[in-house]
Amino acid sequence: MMHGAPAMPPHSVFSLQWRFFLERITSPQLLRQRSIAARAAGQRIALVPTMGFFHAGHLSLMAWAREYADVVITSLFVNPAQFGPAEDLSNYPSNLEQDARMAEAAGVDVLFCPQADAVYAPGHGTWIEVPALSANLCGASRPTHFRGVCTVVAKLFHMALPHTAVFGEKDWQQLAIIRRMVRDLDFDVDIIGRPIVREADGLAMSSRNVYLTSEERAAAPNLQRGLQQLQVWIDDGLQDASTLANDLRSWYARYLAVGEEDYIALVHPETLAPAAVVDAPTLAAVAYRLGKARLIDNVLLTPHTVSSEP
Ligand code: AMP
Repeated sequence: MMHGAPAMPPHSVFSLQWRFFLERITSPQLLRQRSIAARAAGQRIALVPTMGFFHAGHLSLMAWAREYADVVITSLFVNPAQFGPAEDLSNYPSNLEQDARMAEAAGVDVLFCPQADAVYAPGHGTWIEVPALSANLCGASRPTHFRGVCTVVAKLFHMALPHTAVFGEKDWQQLAIIRRMVRDLDFDVDIIGRPIVREADGLAMSSRNVYLTSEERAAAPNLQRGLQQLQVWIDDGLQDASTLANDLRSWYARYLAVGEEDYIALVHPETLAPAAVVDAPTLAAVAYRLGKARLIDNVLLTPHTVSSEP
């Protein structure tokens, strides 16, 4: 038995406590064989795609998958195709051994960590794009990002053969795009979105938060506070989306002066089309650059309800 796992048959009375140690797989072919065998045994497979350097946000997705599935596969792949030429691919934070320990503690069965050339064969030239949802928000400043995401997620679906795949709402646009891709291309995979996990002061957890200097880190929670401020203005009766965006811009100029705007957007939560007025649930999404870090955050805004009392 590998890794000194207890010599106990899986069908024993102790099988509820039975837990294999984390399996690490680097070969797409081996992963697929593992998943074909699991499916043949009637097991449900959940996939959590990640780029590693785990934090509690990643772990929350793994915990959901653990509840749902018999086999939890977490992929750890820093996907070159989703980085632009001037982005942080070569410096992306990583700590494989720590990630493996965290994934194992979260009950993950398989950590899939392939090399780039095992995912992209030489001459790779096939891309999946969802242009209707990729032009605005993060897509505006990262024009090839989402085709890289869609392509690698489609490939991961073929390698891991999951019944379900779990994504974070922190990357709301990514989630909307993946849902559309799955619908349009008939992938038989349930897509689950999970809420944003935050630090105690409200900053959305992100692997890239390690880039922040202490001054930037101290200011960073104001990204989220500004989004909450939007809801306060809406509750006070403000509805016009461009006024709300401009007011938020001014608020950030005051309270997030270390940051530089990438975008502030109020959009329809599914189509991502710009909202003119907040008269229905509306997604407010922001991206700001703080030094080396580009932070994103979002909140679902609720429209102001006028009391029907006389
Ligand atoms: P990444 O490793 O940054 O590509 O993220 C992998 C997955 O974790 C994506 O589905 C993200 O949306 C999700 N994720 C990242 N940060 C958070 C967070 N703070 N809360 C919830 N999910 C997150």
